Amino acid sequence: VGKIAAGEVVEGPASVVKELVENSIDAGARRVQVTIVDGGRESITVMDDGCGIEPDDVLMAFQRHATSKIRDAADLQQVTTLGFRGEALPVVAAVSRVTMLTRPSTTAAGTEIRLEGGRVLATGRVGCAPGTVVTVADLFFNVPPRRKSLRSSRAEAARTAEVMSALMLARPDIAFRLRSADRELLASPGTGRRLDALVALVGLGDAARMLEVEWSREEISVVGFVGEPGLHGGTRSGLFTVVNGRPVRDRVVAAAVEDVYRTLLPAGRHPVGVLWLELPRICIDVNVHPAKLTVAHRDPQLVRQAVTAAVVDALGRAPIARRLWSIPARPPESQSPPTPVQQEIWQVREQPAETAPLNLADFRVVGQVHRSYLVLEGPQGVYLVDQHAAHERVTYERLAPKSDPGAGTQLLLVPLVLELKPKERARWEELAVLLEQAGFVAEPFGGNAVLVRGVPAAVSDVAGESWLRAALEKLGEEERADDEGLRRALAACRASVKARTELGREEMEALWRDLAACRHPYACAHGRPTLLKVGLDELERRFGRT
Ligand code: ADP
Ligand code: MG
Repeated sequence: VGKIAAGEVVEGPASVVKELVENSIDAGARRVQVTIVDGGRESITVMDDGCGIEPDDVLMAFQRHATSKIRDAADLQQVTTLGFRGEALPVVAAVSRVTMLTRPSTTAAGTEIRLEGGRVLATGRVGCAPGTVVTVADLFFNVPPRRKSLRSSRAEAARTAEVMSALMLARPDIAFRLRSADRELLASPGTGRRLDALVALVGLGDAARMLEVEWSREEISVVGFVGEPGLHGGTRSGLFTVVNGRPVRDRVVAAAVEDVYRTLLPAGRHPVGVLWLELPRICIDVNVHPAKLTVAHRDPQLVRQAVTAAVVDALGRAPIARRLWSIPARPPESQSPPTPVQQEIWQVREQPAETAPLNLADFRVVGQVHRSYLVLEGPQGVYLVDQHAAHERVTYERLAPKSDPGAGTQLLLVPLVLELKPKERARWEELAVLLEQAGFVAEPFGGNAVLVRGVPAAVSDVAGESWLRAALEKLGEEERADDEGLRRALAACRASVKARTELGREEMEALWRDLAACRHPYACAHGRPTLLKVGLDELERRFGRT
């Protein structure tokens, strides 16, 4: 019976990993480390620092349908744990050789249990760290046809990585690691930030090109990240969904996302990203699949509409590059030495924030192309600067709040009378304090007119009457009518005046110098990149020189 049941839950090493890691998560682990040997065909080890199992319960845990996670049938309607069927341990044990070491932090010694083909070989007391270590060796050793149908070591490892990726995304607050032999395949920092889990999974480059999803209505919320239209995948597996904390394949969600992107992506390409959905528990049934890989929606239409609205909204936003450069990624107290992957992430992220990492002496401005881009020669390749984005970044940073108000002001030789429409005038009043802080000096001038005596120095070269009017309008479009929104709007307006103009050598050099001196030179105020690099290695590869 055990062997037959195993067919439902245990497909191969990846599903064993899934079940064991879910148990670790349910046990409240902060860190989960998985090691597979020969793609898991030889062995799978899952180590956690969770609550462990009391000595008296260890045998029970391997009984069929024994679970500590529900008490009666009603609990089934509101399970919050990943497991609840009490099947995983017994069925895995039925088709492999299992060793478990487990110890709750409240007991002095741990328990060891060894099973083979479902039979208990030995149990005993052992010394071990609090938490649980389960090793599953020789999967399907007693079911030869299943053993033979296991895929290659590489294919099985890839499936395990996929399963772990999904769990990593489901729980950004847990530090996961997956090693295969002595290679680290995956590692997430466990900071609790979804963005950090995303970066750990797809890398900085792709993460920077994602758009943030943030949508909620009544009891449904959809948050996450989806690729900008230029970022897509060759298969459907690049879109992850997490529904009420469970990583699942959700057809309804996937279809809605595909539909939104249909006209935006080349034929045969698929959207990428991660969506976290929170739905009222009553709206979904998680108990429709033995391995809990899918969920059933009570009202698919509602979910579909929510996802569509959320993704459409995200497509109107700027990529998150800006956030990547500006957030501190190092967890406040790091419990374990950082993995190489983490170290790399932190290095790349922290660099721009500390000092200007662009060493001017290393670059040579070659010229301007298409009246829009600067071309530079740099230490490791050719660099392109988006003139518009660069102006925006420079202006934005120059508008940064000054400790001494008035210091950023350029007084006008001839004060400017702005005849405003009633709506514009109202907006001006509303923003008066912010405008003054930013460096504007103005006073009412009868009716709806305003007399402008001074403007922020950072925009003084463009601030004429029509420009000020346009800026005021732009301000109305900013999401937030605060200091940040004001700076962004002014920066964008100055940049758009400066866009598509021919630059002389001195202007090019000056723009580059100003950009390199910025605190965050790599993205404009709205998150678009300012700088692209075509590496020498890439040039050599593409010209077939290597
Ligand atoms: P389920 O997860 O559905 O309850 P399992 O067969 O996966 O069923 O596990 C049986 C029981 O063993 C769990 O209910 C839990 O009490 C205990 N258990 C399994 N793995 C762990 C672990 N890593 N840490 C603590 N307890 C565990
Ligand atoms: Mg379980």
